[in-house]
Amino acid sequence: MIRVSEIRLPLEHVPEALLEALAQHLGVEPGDIHHWSVVRRGYDARKRGRIFLVYTLDCTLPDEDAILAKHAGNPQIRPAPETTYEPVALDIPALVARQDFQRPVVIGAGPCGLMAALILAQMGLKPIILERGKPVRERTVDTFALWRKSELTPESNVQFGEGGAGTFSDGKLYTRVNDARHLGRKVLDEFVRAGAPEEILYLSKPHIGTFRLVSMVEHMREEIVAAGGTYRFYSRMDQLILDEQHKVRGVRLADGEEIPATHVILAVGHSARDTFEMLHAEGVAMEAKPFSIGVRIEHPQSLIDADQFGPQAGSKILGAADYKLVHRTEDGRGVYSFCMCPGGTVVAATSEPGRVVTNGMSQYSRAERNANAGIVVELRPGVDYPADPLAGVAFQRHWESRAFIAGGSDYRAPAQRVEDFLAARPSTHLGSVVPSYRPGVTPTSLDSCLPDFVCAAIREALPSFARKLSSFALGDAVMTGVETRTSSPLQIPRGDDGESLNTPGLYPAGEGAGYAGGIMSAAMDGIRVAEAVALSFGGRKAVG
Ligand code: FAD
Repeated sequence: MIRVSEIRLPLEHVPEALLEALAQHLGVEPGDIHHWSVVRRGYDARKRGRIFLVYTLDCTLPDEDAILAKHAGNPQIRPAPETTYEPVALDIPALVARQDFQRPVVIGAGPCGLMAALILAQMGLKPIILERGKPVRERTVDTFALWRKSELTPESNVQFGEGGAGTFSDGKLYTRVNDARHLGRKVLDEFVRAGAPEEILYLSKPHIGTFRLVSMVEHMREEIVAAGGTYRFYSRMDQLILDEQHKVRGVRLADGEEIPATHVILAVGHSARDTFEMLHAEGVAMEAKPFSIGVRIEHPQSLIDADQFGPQAGSKILGAADYKLVHRTEDGRGVYSFCMCPGGTVVAATSEPGRVVTNGMSQYSRAERNANAGIVVELRPGVDYPADPLAGVAFQRHWESRAFIAGGSDYRAPAQRVEDFLAARPSTHLGSVVPSYRPGVTPTSLDSCLPDFVCAAIREALPSFARKLSSFALGDAVMTGVETRTSSPLQIPRGDDGESLNTPGLYPAGEGAGYAGGIMSAAMDGIRVAEAVALSFGGRKAVG
């Protein structure tokens, strides 16, 4: 099979143009091509009014070697890489017959834990999945109760419960992590089998939105259970059971029940603060990790579309426009847009009472009135707050509590017009941009709920962003605070074998352990740790 990349066609091209362009690139007749498929479709919007679709296509045709030889040296025409996932090979009957075999335990049913459990189940290792929250449909009711009625359920919310933190999200499914083994493809294939639209396999920036994620998570659970896995909801792991060598012997749940296990995958996400505290007290190695904090900003989506797509704004194939902005302040701090959600809403994302946290979500259609994104500032552990592993959590909690108070102490969030923020005066009312945050916002000053250096960095960055994207000059744009859960404030380091550096049998994984940032990278990390567990049970890598 041959892969041809960088095939550029006008936005409104007819379907037949693809095959013709492919044949032209290869120097053959369209009829010579037996089969072809789209591997990737992105767009190049650098020239306003002249947006091109950019395709990568795979095809089969006779005498591929001769064609490849003819185009040798052309980086756009190469043999198509093998992307089929090869699991670790294991002699399951022999393993299960061993007296010391205990089923692996996966803590957390977010993208990392789900994918780890799926891979273990597909290999025949019958994982036990412990999830502190509720099944996804029940969890949805609790999550909406915060948004609609200001009622927070600490064990069941945007962060906790089946599906993990990304369930009520924009469902962006792309990552910039290095993926030489095409693990991302395995994740996307599984998502499609679970009900995601097939287009996620080829769009350069795929997303699925919230409603589909809910049913996908349920389908993945059904598959894991069918392959011998066991789900336990309402099951918070409150202690690791360790022997004298600090080796994992099992876990203890909140109700005191003990589950013996020699292999525990820790996929608890970045908001499991109580779990981090417990692991630290038990002596599990961990260290502070840089993260970022800031605000969510909202603009009318129509302005962003016009900025990015010019006269072609509104094209169905382009959808709602996104953006990515970066600024380095004079004192060297990075300020950047984070988790941008086109046509979405800003959501209340706290998991703890008395705190306010923002994030963003959308539906598949991305049809809401506003675009939103985090505008966040890099922090330096040991400089901005103490360097001990849990100091980042204390720092987050402090500013989340300040935001709760500034919002009115009832889960409304503090909000400010950009013009007022730049002039360092509190907002007394909001303007043309209606904030989407529920249960509501309080116009005020954001200076009381962010460190001075963070406000200063955002004040420096906004005019620079406005020079790149004119929507950012809108004085009525609304900033809602605070965005603190951008990534884990700590790392639980692991060795090449996937195990914690000082706690054998513990496999720290995903975002909470500092090995991922987003749905895709967390799910890919889940595959890696599941493989590490299988290798430790005596499995062999099928490739490489
Ligand atoms: P999590 O998804 O956080 O899952 C951890 C799970 O562990 C949770 O279900 C939790 O209940 C459980 N748990 C925690 N402690 C325990 C314990 N002690 N015992 C048992 N269970 C426990 N990323 C993207 O790539 N694209 C997006 O569009 C996107 N949008 C987002 C929108 C929102 C509102 C939020 C909050 C996040 C968004 N993210 C997005 C980030 C993404 O959700 C996370 O990066 C990803 O979910 C991390 O996966 P994870 O499996 O490592 O952890």
